[in-house]
Amino acid sequence: MVQKMEKIWFDGKLVPWDEAQVHVLTHTLHYGAGVFEGIRAYECVDGRSAVYRLEEHIDRLIDSAHILGMKIPFSAEEIVKGCIDTLKANGQKNGYIRPLVFIGDGVMGVHPGDNPIRVIIATWPWGAYLGEEALKKGIRVCTSTYARHHVNVMMTKSKCCGNYVNSVLAKTEAVANGYNEAIMLDTQGYVAEGSGENIFVVRDDIIKTPPLGNVLGGFTRDSIIMLAQELGYEVREEPIGRDTLYIADEAFFTGTAAEVTPIREVDRRQIGEGTCGPITSLLQDEYFKIVKGENEDYGDWLHYYEV
Ligand SMILES: *Cc1c(COP(=O)(O)O)cnc(C)c1O
Repeated sequence: MVQKMEKIWFDGKLVPWDEAQVHVLTHTLHYGAGVFEGIRAYECVDGRSAVYRLEEHIDRLIDSAHILGMKIPFSAEEIVKGCIDTLKANGQKNGYIRPLVFIGDGVMGVHPGDNPIRVIIATWPWGAYLGEEALKKGIRVCTSTYARHHVNVMMTKSKCCGNYVNSVLAKTEAVANGYNEAIMLDTQGYVAEGSGENIFVVRDDIIKTPPLGNVLGGFTRDSIIMLAQELGYEVREEPIGRDTLYIADEAFFTGTAAEVTPIREVDRRQIGEGTCGPITSLLQDEYFKIVKGENEDYGDWLHYYEV
């Protein structure tokens, strides 16, 4: 259960958690045309708190809405401030931030007409998305029977609510079959991503990840590519088949929620030593140093705030 907090930012105002309600004829509830973000705040080593790549997340939220033809009635600055105000109102030194832009009630039918565009920002404490154990030892995953969206069917660069039906199907199937997460292939059969995470494989010290064709360009993916290159590794963005996954020395997922989660098994085949590999472990450590303010080179990515 999501832990109940004090306040939720709703259309520009902080309202009590229980009062953040909508009508059942809310357009997005019926047709899925809404967009969201997933952002994390970390307590830093110096005792301050910082939101990771906050401005970029909000720009992506606005882009996601723009792709759907939705005009958000708040500026990027107002939404950034809303995120910080909500964390403060909830007394959170760390946690997850979920802005959501949706179409309110008014007309029904797939053309939303002049229905209001509404915005909420909720925050709550959220530990490791796939569990603490998963971060250390890795997870077991399967190739999904569901393909990832085709670029001409859904807008894969938009973090759109409706896109996530595909993720819910894949993840639910994976968990029902005893796995922790699903890997989805694109409609051509190449590895795309997890249900809400980008994927990387390592073989002979070369790091590979699928190109951005039909996957969401994650900020964690971007951070890891930069970090790996800085550490001297060759990173290739190229199509990956599932066979490449099977013979990888290491594999891992990246995402704001999943952070850097090692994959120890794919379709009942052990990956490498069947635990978190050395390069994954190094990148994970370095990633946590960045988000917790221990690497000054990446200080620009941190939006500090005080509770
Ligand atoms: C949000 C998301 C990711 C991860 O993006 P981050 O910016 O790293 O959190 C990856 N894939 C999909 C489909 C997503 O929606």
